[in-house]
Formats: sequence, structure tokens, C-alpha cells
Amino acid sequence: MQVSLLDLKAQYNTIKDEVKESIEQVLESQHFIMGPQVKSLEEKIAAYTQCKHAVAVASGSDALVISLMAMDIKPGDAVITTPYTFFATAGAVARLGAIPIFVDINPKTYNIDPEKIEDVFRKKSVNRSPLTVNQSSIKALIPVHLYGQSADMDPIMDIAKRYNLTVIEDGAQAIGTEYKGRRVGSIGDFGCFSFFPSKNLGGFGDGGMVTTNSDEYADKMRVLRLHGSKPKYYHKVVGMNSRLDTLNAAVLEVKLAHLDKWSTARKNNAEWYNAKFKDVGLADQFVTTPYSEGWRHIYNQYVIRCKNRDGLMKHLKENGIGCEVYYPVPLHIQECFKDLGYKQGDCPISEAAALETVAIPVYPELTPEQKGYVVETIRKFYM
Ligand SMILES: *Cc1c(COP(=O)(O)O)cnc(C)c1O
Repeated sequence: MQVSLLDLKAQYNTIKDEVKESIEQVLESQHFIMGPQVKSLEEKIAAYTQCKHAVAVASGSDALVISLMAMDIKPGDAVITTPYTFFATAGAVARLGAIPIFVDINPKTYNIDPEKIEDVFRKKSVNRSPLTVNQSSIKALIPVHLYGQSADMDPIMDIAKRYNLTVIEDGAQAIGTEYKGRRVGSIGDFGCFSFFPSKNLGGFGDGGMVTTNSDEYADKMRVLRLHGSKPKYYHKVVGMNSRLDTLNAAVLEVKLAHLDKWSTARKNNAEWYNAKFKDVGLADQFVTTPYSEGWRHIYNQYVIRCKNRDGLMKHLKENGIGCEVYYPVPLHIQECFKDLGYKQGDCPISEAAALETVAIPVYPELTPEQKGYVVETIRKFYM
């Protein structure tokens, strides 16, 4: 049996006709840039994320960059974030000449630990040779809702308020995720989403969206994504070319209507795994990402933390099961950030997680036979 980590073809087969019809409309209109489907998708995503505005952009990475630009992040400013995330979270900060400050994660949720954010402000400055960052340079905070589970937003928002930080939620893996009944992206000042094909709401190519409740930020971002021009050919600011293609918006509108069903199927698969791993006596070989009651987890990834991770991965691959490490190198020790002065040991929880975690298939279309085969294959490895 083969079980890939994600099977986009299985999903496409269920929506082929709808998608083709929607694409056909764009083809007939030949309105490829900022067509009406972009605006209607923005309205639908705003409603879905419980935000006043949604601004479509070219990728989740650009969503982060444009948010930082809209709040006027400048070279030398500093932004707190997690090292245990996809590169784009900190890449966006660095691309604007700002300095990422990495704060380690909570070992249970893999999301940024609010207690440790507080530690940053207990010192007057962040001191790591060759870099010194004064507290007053810290302007923003980017929590990531990793794997589809919300970061602990109440203490994060409390810290942001006390230290006057703008909060940009990186919800690239978390569209529809809830924190105490509220949709992520609506809690901070900005919410950034990605339509990369492997996200829960995946497009046919790159795409992204920024949500905000601020009229001012929304207006700024609508100008920034069009080279900063308003009116056309008049530039008050230097923006970028970052738009969501109409074709992709047309596909995403179709898929959005199915999203809740798919996210529920992922959750059911995850809960089935949780129970099954316990049943077969694997509970002390590894732990699974916990689910906090009342917080809706959308399981973009189902990640286990296990003994002999690399051996297990080899065994899974030999038996036709897809798996992947998200992420093998925490950002504070990435080569491109070596000038920031971090070293191995600075974020020990992230470093340990990077060595012990692996994502296994949880996509909505998994069959009971496939799930059973995944559990049985893992069981055989340990017993
Ligand atoms: C995917 C992802 C991004 C970037 O999104 P792209 O659309 O691929 O640019 C940013 N942050 C996180 C946490 C992601 O998972």
C-alpha cells in the first residue's frame, strides 16, 4: 500500500467539475489581474476569519512582508517571533532590514511561549555578540499558529499591549483555527494566510491573504500590493507587485466552500490516530500534539514526537508511507542568520523538537485502510 503525506489529486477528483467551470469563467473574461473573483474571495475570507478586511496578495510570505510594511517596520527595528516555523516568518522580517528576536516554544504545543517573551523585556536590551537590540527597538510580535493550532493569544495580546507591540498572526497553517471561540487572524492587528497548495485551503499555485480590522492598515496594504501607486502611476510610497491571480481566486472560491468539511475530516483522522496509538500500546513511544479543549485545531499537520525518529522515517518510507520533518533546522541557527549571534543551545526546546518530531499523513481523503496501515506500520517498528 502507498500512503503519501498529502494527496492533492484525491481532493481534486472530488471538485473537478466545479473548479473547471470557475476557471472557464475567468478564461472567458480574460480578466487575469484583480478580476472580480479576487474581490469576492476577499469578502468571503474576511467573513470566514471574522475580520473586517481581507487583502489578497501573491503568497503567504508576501502577506507577512506587506503587514510589516504597513506598520512601517524599518531597518534596525526588531520583531519577536518563534524559531520553530517555516522560514518565511522570520525571512519577512529580515528582508525589510529588521532584526528577528527568537523566543523559544512551549514543548507541548510547539508554539511561542508567552512566558519567555516576557523574559525578553526583563532585560534592558537583547545582547548577543555582535548585536545589541534596545528594548525600544522592538516593534512587533509574530506568533505562528503552527500545524493548525492557535498560539496562546491571551497572554500574547497582554504582553503586546504592555510593551506597545503590533501583533501579526502567522496563520499560514491555520485558516479557520479558533482560539477560545475566536478565529485566528482576527485577534492581532494582522492575520497572514497562505494558499500554498499544501495548506488546508490550497490554491493552484502561490497565493496569500492578509486580514485586519483596521481600515487604515487595509487601505495601506491595498496600495502597497500595487507598487504603492494611488492613483495609478502616482507613487507616494514604494510598494511591491504582489497580487493574487484571478484564476487562483476563482479556484479558491470553489475550495473555500468545502474547507470546513475537509478540516473536520482532518480532525477526525487526528483523533482516530490519537485513540488508536493508545490502543496498540504506543503511548510511551511518542506523544502527539495535544488538542486544547475549545480551541479549534485544523490539523494542517499531524505531528508525532517519537524515539528514534530517523529510524522510524526510514521504516515508513520503505513501507510506502510519506512523512516529513517540519522543521529540521530551527531558524535561530540557520546559516543566513548567523550574524544575529545565536548559537546552538539558545532555544533548546525548538532544537530538541527538530530532532524528534515527524508529520504523518492526515489529509481528509485518507481511507480507513490507509490509516490502519499507517498505525500498523508504526507499531511494527516499535514492537
Ligand atoms: C507556508 C507558510 C508561510 C509562507 O507561505 P507561502 O504562501 O508559501 O509564501 C509562512 N509561514 C508559515 C508558518 C507557513 O507554514
